[in-house]
Amino acid sequence: MTPIDGSQLDLADLAARSLDELGITDAAALEAVFTRLDAGLASEVGALQDSAGTADAIEALRVRWLGRKQGIIRSITDGWLKNAPGELKRIIGQRTNALRQMAEEQIAGVAKQLQLGAIAEENSQGRQMPLPQSDWAATQNSAAQQQLSYVPSPFLDITLPGTHRPAGVRHPLRQVINDMVEIFTSLGYSVEDGPEIESTYFNFEALNIPEHHPSRDDQDTFYITPETVLRTHTSPVQIRTMEKQSPPLRIIVPGRVYRRDAPDATHSPMFHQVEGLAVDTHITFADLKGTLDYFLKSFFGLSVQTRFRPSFFPFTEPSAEVDISCLFCAQAGCRVCKGSGWIELLGCGMVDPALFNFVQYDASQYSGFAFGMGVERLAMLKYGVQDIQQFYHGDIRFLHQFR
Ligand SMILES: [Zn+2]
Repeated sequence: MTPIDGSQLDLADLAARSLDELGITDAAALEAVFTRLDAGLASEVGALQDSAGTADAIEALRVRWLGRKQGIIRSITDGWLKNAPGELKRIIGQRTNALRQMAEEQIAGVAKQLQLGAIAEENSQGRQMPLPQSDWAATQNSAAQQQLSYVPSPFLDITLPGTHRPAGVRHPLRQVINDMVEIFTSLGYSVEDGPEIESTYFNFEALNIPEHHPSRDDQDTFYITPETVLRTHTSPVQIRTMEKQSPPLRIIVPGRVYRRDAPDATHSPMFHQVEGLAVDTHITFADLKGTLDYFLKSFFGLSVQTRFRPSFFPFTEPSAEVDISCLFCAQAGCRVCKGSGWIELLGCGMVDPALFNFVQYDASQYSGFAFGMGVERLAMLKYGVQDIQQFYHGDIRFLHQFR
């Protein structure tokens, strides 16, 4: 059989012929034909790169070389490799693998180049709209078209769902403080603030709490130096405000306070208080009772009853504890009210005239009342929270219940 002159054949046609037909019988002839295949692949890929080929052209090249049924590589492995004598099989195997790898890499490279080229093309089209410089209206119009002709990059998929940012809720303690502020501001009170690191003068002395008083013990108070403490109540702000302002005065002071208590279900070394102070001429205990009764009914509901019991505080005279009727048992007696039907809630009293001497108010002309209550206590009663520690754990499952 006369061998065909392979040099005249297209590469696909060449690969489809048998080695016998091509007259290839030794390693040298095999090397020559694979060298031609390598060069052919390189030149076909190069031609596509130069012509900025289309996606169709790239796919055609891929099928020609790597196609599963009649691709050049496939023809070689099906035709040449199977029927070759042993000593040529190894060369055909090695050269075919190298050729396949080269074809895969180079054709993928051209495809990638085409993709990047298309993006650059789209972006530059967006910018290169001709802008007539002479006519203002035309410029505006053109600018609008330019806006519309913008095509987002393929990397930005505007159909993907957006990022969901869930709305938070106010912390229950903040909600209670806000409720209290709202009720008292409706009565004409203003909100005052003061430092949490306080001098012993404002925290104790000016509030008529002398050196030997048990609450000044370092078992009860966080001392920073012998003269500075973490404030144990918000009452120092009353003194600070009275030093700045002359009567009449109506303020409430919400804020953080600190005591050396071990944390448990009802105690925390840090908690919140709201204190109130009213100073004017002719302020009586009846004003105090009316104000607190109004506040507690506004906060807990109109059915709540209040009860004032005599008590003692260093900075008020007379002093009282205020109880409310139990919210949980309609005064039948339960665990919360310890069977009494009443819940102890806050302390209050008429401002001790001795305090007015510290701030140069005329005690013969002015009188006033003060009260203080724990925000956590009100929140626990209002929302039925059993453990004060839950307010500080930051557990989202707990906090989300206060929507
Ligand atoms: Zn009860």
